[in-house]
Order: sequence, then C-alpha cells, then structure tokens
Amino acid sequence: MLEASAESSWIEIDGSALRANLAAFRGVLGQGDTNHGERKLGIVLKANAYGHGLLETLTVVHPLVDIIHLISPRDALLVRKYEESRQWPRRRLLVIGATSPEEFVQLAEEGVEVTLGDDNAVAAVAALQARGLRAQAHVHVETGLSREGFFPSEMRTKLAFLNAPECPFEVKGVLSHFANTEDVTEQQYALQQLKQFDAGVTSLSALLGKNSADFERHIAASAATLVLPQSQCDFVRVGISLYGLWPSTETRLSAKIVLPNLPKLQPVLSWRCRSQIVKKLAAGAYVGYGCTFRCERETRIAVLPIGYYDGYPRILSGRAHVLVNGHRAPVLGRVMMNHIVVDVTGVTGDEGQVVATLLGSDSGETVSAEMVAGWAQTIHYEIVTRIGSHLRRIVIDQ
Ligand SMILES: *Cc1c(COP(=O)(O)O)cnc(C)c1O
Repeated sequence: MLEASAESSWIEIDGSALRANLAAFRGVLGQGDTNHGERKLGIVLKANAYGHGLLETLTVVHPLVDIIHLISPRDALLVRKYEESRQWPRRRLLVIGATSPEEFVQLAEEGVEVTLGDDNAVAAVAALQARGLRAQAHVHVETGLSREGFFPSEMRTKLAFLNAPECPFEVKGVLSHFANTEDVTEQQYALQQLKQFDAGVTSLSALLGKNSADFERHIAASAATLVLPQSQCDFVRVGISLYGLWPSTETRLSAKIVLPNLPKLQPVLSWRCRSQIVKKLAAGAYVGYGCTFRCERETRIAVLPIGYYDGYPRILSGRAHVLVNGHRAPVLGRVMMNHIVVDVTGVTGDEGQVVATLLGSDSGETVSAEMVAGWAQTIHYEIVTRIGSHLRRIVIDQ
C-alpha cells in the first residue's frame, strides 16, 4: 500500500473516498426541504482539483455529478478533450473565472457554459458574432464579496447588451458567491447576500422580460450547502468538501446543529515520499541550512527528497512531523527547496529505506491537511492546492 509509485514522492487519491463524499452531498441536498428533489450536484475542480489532480479526480467523479465548475477556460477545454478521448458523454461544464474574449469563443465552440461577471463579457459579443457562435451564460451578481459580478443596480446599464437582437448569449443561470460562511457560526452576512442575490435575479428578470423561475440559481459552495440549506437553490458548487475536508471547524459545528444527518467526509489525498538516505548522526551534528538544528544525542535521520518546491511550506521548518511506520517523525531544521530531514530514531531499527507520509494516514496515525495548515499558519485550502502539479497523482480504488 505504501509502495505505489516508481517516483520517490507521489500523491494517492482515494477513489472510494471521493465517491463517498459525493454520496454524502447527494444526501445533504434538500435535507430539511423535502420539496426540492430536483436539486443538482455541482462540483468545483479548479486549482488542479484542489491539488488532487484535475484529470485523476475527473476520472472518478465525471459519471457521478451534474455540473463541473472550473475557474480557468483552459481547464474546461482540457476536460472536453479528455471526455472526447475517452468517448465519455459530455458533462455540463461551467467556467466561473476570468475569461478573455478569445476564450469565450473557444468555450462556445466546445459547448462550455460561461459566466458573465465583468466587462469582458461585452467585449466577447463581437468575437462570438463574427464566428456565428452562441453561448449559454450565467450572470454573476455582486452580493458582497467584492470580487466579480454586477451589482443589481447596474444591471440595466451594464447588461443592456443582452437585450440586443442577435446577442450571442443565452442567459441560463444566475450566480453569486458567499464571503463569510465558513468563518462564522451565525450567518447574518450570508442572509444579507441572499437578499442581494434575489434583488439581482429580480433586476435581471426585469431587464430580460423573464420570470425569476426562468433562471437556474446557484450561490452555495461547500459551507453554505452544509449550513444554510435555503441557499442550495437549483444547484450547488461543492469544492473543498468534495475532497473530504470540512471548510472550517465553525462549519462543522454549525452543520451539526442544522443537519439532521451530519455527513461523514473522508479525506481523499495522501502524500507519500520514499527516503533518499537513512543514516545516523553523532550527538552534536547540525542539520540543514543555517545549522538551526543540533542533535542532542545520536540521531537517526531520514532525508526525504521533497521540499518547498514541491509544496511543502518552508514555514514548517522545525515545526511539523511526518509519519514513518505509523510513528511521528519530526522535521529537523529547515525545509529546503528539494529536501527535508526527519528524525526517525526509534521509528526504524536500521538504515533501510522508509516511506514517509507527509499528509494522510499510516497505521492509524494521521497528519491531516488541517494540522499542516495550523503549523503553517494558513488554511488547508492553501496546503492542498499548492502541492506541486509535477508530482504524480495515483488513483487508488478499492
Ligand atoms: C472556489 C469556489 C467555490 C467552491 O468553494 P469551496 O469552499 O471550496 O466549496 C464555489 N464557487 C466559487 C465561485 C468559487 O470560487
């Protein structure tokens, strides 16, 4: 199990955990709101599937989800190519990130849905018309994150082009994004945003001479899906929790109160590394750049060929541990560009090669993304998304 790759360091993706998390979210959709059996399950595969590997993750989840959201147009085109090469049916794909006029054209050609969230949308009209292309679009409403989107009050002017004859955009949906659902246990700000969202839908309906029910509405990411069921709307966009990670402790606490059945989320990713060298150092020896660690006693170390280049944060110098043979092995001295050194005294009896777990479980001990994030003074989102895309992802499926 701990010997899955030819490379010295690799990422294991647990396919059954991914499927279990999807099933858990199917269960969460509509809990406490039985009128809504039709709610779709959308997931977010941005940022190399939160570091889990875009195509590796796609292979497992593609048949099981309704809509796939991506930030980058390039990723969406890659997914289309992959579907084609595998002769899979096309899933609904929606790009929610910045899109240039040229990219609007490429996405429309591939039947990828687009987001109108900034002034590039109007700039894309001519380019699409020149090619005789039409695009299915979702309008992003600015409800208080102060990122992309149109204020309800500016829609009449900024989105008037949608009413022009031969406008290449067919507005299919309306979306927004919450600013403050995971950092709190009360949802005042989110409720305010929901009001603004409604105002946006109303304003857009008036502009286009439609009913609000004519649009698919979506605003909930993982946290809101879990703690604010009334925000689930027509579909959700589950990111971090698809990968088995709770958005925050606050979200988990709130969900315990809100949901009749708390879903069990299973972390999907493990990061392993085979040692390059195991050796004994004499008492008094120094380890690593800056000589920041000095052995108090004879110490057996393992040199692991991964470092901050691979996404193991340098701030973990002297603060973290990895797992070796189910035991904690502290990181000694500084994290280097391509190496770390860990203390395996008492963890292994000789100088034979060991396999270290940097993230994940080994024999009942776990180093979670949350723990690493705590040591690194950041959030687990950053820890997983920054794991180098050059490391091989292996789907382990049993
Ligand atoms: C990243 C993102 C999501 C997913 O958020 P999670 O907290 O990871 O579930 C949903 N919608 C938008 C617009 C996003 O940028």
